[in-house]
Amino acid sequence: MKIKDIISNNKVTVSFEVFPPKQWDKVESTKQTIAELAKFSPSFMSVTYGAAGTTSGYTTEIANAVKDNGITPLAHLTCMTSTRDKIHSVVNELKSNGIENILALRGDIPKDFVFPDKQYYTYASQLVEEIHSLGDFCVGGACYPEIHPESENRVTDIAHLKEKVDCGLDFLTTQMFFDNKVFYNFREMCAIKGIDVPLVAGIMPITNVNLIERTVALAGCTLPKKFNKMVERFGSNSEAMKQAGIIYAMEQIVDLLSNGVNNIHIYTMNKPDIAGKITQGLTEIINE
Ligand code: FAD
Repeated sequence: MKIKDIISNNKVTVSFEVFPPKQWDKVESTKQTIAELAKFSPSFMSVTYGAAGTTSGYTTEIANAVKDNGITPLAHLTCMTSTRDKIHSVVNELKSNGIENILALRGDIPKDFVFPDKQYYTYASQLVEEIHSLGDFCVGGACYPEIHPESENRVTDIAHLKEKVDCGLDFLTTQMFFDNKVFYNFREMCAIKGIDVPLVAGIMPITNVNLIERTVALAGCTLPKKFNKMVERFGSNSEAMKQAGIIYAMEQIVDLLSNGVNNIHIYTMNKPDIAGKITQGLTEIINE
């Protein structure tokens, strides 16, 4: 099923993000994780592709596992470090596996990356057009409520986002954010600029302090006082921090739903217990 059809019917959707393993011998255990996550009936599951420009890994393999569990997969694909032939081969592989949803991304510029003589893709917008030329895909893209870290300012960031959407995006998934006001401002900016595709709000449950440095700082997110107070109070007690982080994410979701945001994407970090606690704790709210 196409994700644009899943998210367009005014019902609440809760989807999950997972990442594939780096090594082949971990594929089976990741598949077990997928099966556990699938028990919570996410609306769809997205599978990341490499990271920081590293190898493509086992995205198709894991996306197939998502499909085998009866859940619609969304395969991420980055283009920055790829040739056109490589992109064509991955897209054709997805097509032949019946995967019809792709999140088209530029990818981060790897450290010490030397631009080759022939740089095939500089921006995700080029990949969006390329994917459409290769088949009947539903294509999503990334967006940044706090602007992309490389962008000079909000004006140019939103202008480039509009160009990307006009290349044929069906929806946008946001970078994580911890202050819903940031998202609401971004949503208004999108409306002003005529960006009218559905926005899927990305929520990252912060269940241990290491995640803050590893992920949040990397993504360039600002942390509100309420969040910092939580970490100050519970950060040194791992179980308390885990519980507080789950509740913080749930509060964010309840507030988003109360403010007309219907599509929530949980960055699960491959942790079924955390994704499960959030979705199980919100069943009446999600199915209301
Ligand atoms: P773009 O949309 O190409 O934007 C990149 C920068 O270029 C922005 O600053 C933009 O304003 C600017 N820009 C765009 N067009 C132009 C133009 N015409 N002229 C000048 N400037 C322009 N990374 C991975 O490696 N694997 C993943 O699976 C992955 N999944 C992600 C999922 C989500 C939901 C998000 C939010 C990010 C994900 N990332 C992933 C990270 C992503 O690859 C990086 O944030 C990357 O730096 C930007 O990718 P993009 O697709 O947003 O790029």
